[in-house]
Amino acid sequence: MDDEFQCPVCMLLPDSGIYQCINGHLICETCKNAIQSSRNNAHEPAGIPCPTCRVLMPTTNTSRVLAMEESLSSRMETCMHCSKSMIRREYLQHVASCPESHVLCEGGKEDGGCCWSGKLKDLEAHASACPILIISLFGRQVEGFRGSCLCVHTLLSQSCSQENSRA
Ligand SMILES: [Zn+2]
Ligand SMILES: [Zn+2]
Ligand SMILES: [Zn+2]
Ligand SMILES: [Zn+2]
Repeated sequence: MDDEFQCPVCMLLPDSGIYQCINGHLICETCKNAIQSSRNNAHEPAGIPCPTCRVLMPTTNTSRVLAMEESLSSRMETCMHCSKSMIRREYLQHVASCPESHVLCEGGKEDGGCCWSGKLKDLEAHASACPILIISLFGRQVEGFRGSCLCVHTLLSQSCSQENSRA
């Protein structure tokens, strides 16, 4: 990726603020904050060195480039889960909750838990039928269900590689 908006430190496109040194080099807000907090030393001058040219950048909003933030957040992005296109500002919120994104069952975090995975839009249907999740929500341990999510996966016709190996 070679992009005028790309942060030279994390190599990503900034999701929030974009800051600039006096020579026009960019840094994203996340990296700026990380550098700033690693320099909490009274002996050092205020500001952070530009990662590209080492000139000292003020850490206040005076070095923020709102025009670039605006043009970056209105560019088109395509969701990798559902292939819909939208402006980046909406996209950043969308990807976190895209119905087509891949998720794991909340009941699967413990060893021997549920091994269902699927699309976010199918999670609700699964969760209402998942014995492991229901048990964990009610805080009860029912021995017979631990290590076996056979009924859920038969129900949803999902294959589960752990079904038999954990018996
Ligand atoms: Zn960065
Ligand atoms: Zn610079
Ligand atoms: Zn999507
Ligand atoms: Zn489950």
